[in-house]
Amino acid sequence: MLIIVHYAEIALKGGNRKFFEDKLIENIKKSLTQKGIVFNSVKRIYGRILIELNEEGGSLLPNVLKNVFGIAHFSLVEKCAKDIEKIKEKAFEILSQKDFISFKIETKRGDKKFALSSQQINEQVGEYILEEGAKLLPNLKVDLHNPDIVLYLEITEKDVFLYTEKIVGPGGLPLGVSGKAVCLISGGIDSPVAAWYMMKRGVENVFVHFYSTQQGYEQSLEKVRDLVRSLNVFQLNSKIYFVPFSDIQKEILLNTQADLRVVLYRRVMMRVAEEIGLKENTKALITGENVGQVASQTLDNMLVISQATSLPILRPLAGFDKIEIIAVAKKIGTYNISILPHLDCCSMFVPEHPATKANLKETQKQEKKLKIKKLITSALKNTKIENI
Ligand code: ATP
Ligand code: MG
Repeated sequence: MLIIVHYAEIALKGGNRKFFEDKLIENIKKSLTQKGIVFNSVKRIYGRILIELNEEGGSLLPNVLKNVFGIAHFSLVEKCAKDIEKIKEKAFEILSQKDFISFKIETKRGDKKFALSSQQINEQVGEYILEEGAKLLPNLKVDLHNPDIVLYLEITEKDVFLYTEKIVGPGGLPLGVSGKAVCLISGGIDSPVAAWYMMKRGVENVFVHFYSTQQGYEQSLEKVRDLVRSLNVFQLNSKIYFVPFSDIQKEILLNTQADLRVVLYRRVMMRVAEEIGLKENTKALITGENVGQVASQTLDNMLVISQATSLPILRPLAGFDKIEIIAVAKKIGTYNISILPHLDCCSMFVPEHPATKANLKETQKQEKKLKIKKLITSALKNTKIENI
């Protein structure tokens, strides 16, 4: 079985092209291997990728490729020799198994040395199909604008590939080509969706989760693991840093002004995430924050939160409505995990009227009352790293 994979954006990336293609090939190989699909080869041909499989894995394949970022579309293809008579016969063989009245031939000539132009190939193959097909189907006709079926022909250096169906891929960029970022993952709906959006742009996520050791917290950690496991459909394997947050929380609770608590929690989280980011050689932080969704997520508060770190904070969901986020969470398979009960370390002791307009000076004044450096060092020392 042969599959041709088309990629869209990578083709535009000039000098980086080989790096992007290599990454996509590597990611396809890893995804197939992880699903136990045995392949003979995954290789580059003429601005596309060709996968050669044993027949057995075939039925699983579309579901695997649908989750590999960087793929624009892919097709199950048939191969024939670069000979116009062979092409005609193969085209007829493929179309005679399909149900249609109007058709169109669409040729892409990757090999410009081929004797016939794309247009000539379209015409000659089309004529042949009409002649041969009319014996079986008298109404058969060519329709260039709205055909029932399109037969695609791709002429490459070595072979000709033929197919009738394009299966849409997830688009985006191959995972890893944009480097790494630290994703702050809570147990909620938003942060896994934020992670997915950045994976789609080629960013590998290193996860950080803050937890407090209240009764039953192990179950919440398991929930975070489950979320990451389901994101591994896209990222294959992930690292999670579990950071204990109780001591930090206690200190903030006992020493600072109630309305700034959430902003103070978030600023400490950003500092810890930045430390982890330095170690992991990441270039950004990712959160599921969303403008105006809750009191802590006003632009004023986000500004003060951002000022705790020198790394850029990517907030891919900033402009989404909750309904839109939920729809994506359902599509990517994280929603049903996110809605399970969870002990959120930050929803405990949240004041009735949290500040919506934090300012940096006041926040820093509160922070002076905390032994932040010591707390962060100790939290990092007690952090556990897991590979999932
Ligand atoms: P989510 O659904 O992702 O929890 P949310 O709308 O509930 O988001 P908040 O609880 O205010 O928002 O959190 C905002 C962001 O801060 C989260 O999206 C996440 O990136 C980060 N965050 C919050 N709590 C934690 C935590 N315990 N561990 C790691 N990151 C967290
Ligand atoms: Mg939350």
